[in-house]
Amino acid sequence: MPVCAHCGRTWSYGTTLKNAYHITKTCPFCGRENYDSSAITLASILYFTLPIGIIFIFQLLVDMTIKQFFGLLLFLIVVMLGIYPFIAKLSKERVPYW
Ligand SMILES: [Zn+2]
Repeated sequence: MPVCAHCGRTWSYGTTLKNAYHITKTCPFCGRENYDSSAITLASILYFTLPIGIIFIFQLLVDMTIKQFFGLLLFLIVVMLGIYPFIAKLSKERVPYW
């Protein structure tokens, strides 16, 4: 679980998940703003786009219906969101994506 870059307290799974898609992540303990660290920002981009790319390639190799395709896509999105709090890291300052 991520640790606040200001007060050093560990965020809960739910708090991290709730802030997953926010650029500015407000600490529930000290109220100060945190951002994704530079390492996790680039990793997040790969983490969220790579599996989707793999599904598209997999879909070309295996005959899938549109329901199966979107079912698999939805399943992977839920799994990736479920894992996100365990890999998230916070920074005091906003860093560029590259
Ligand atoms: Zn804090």
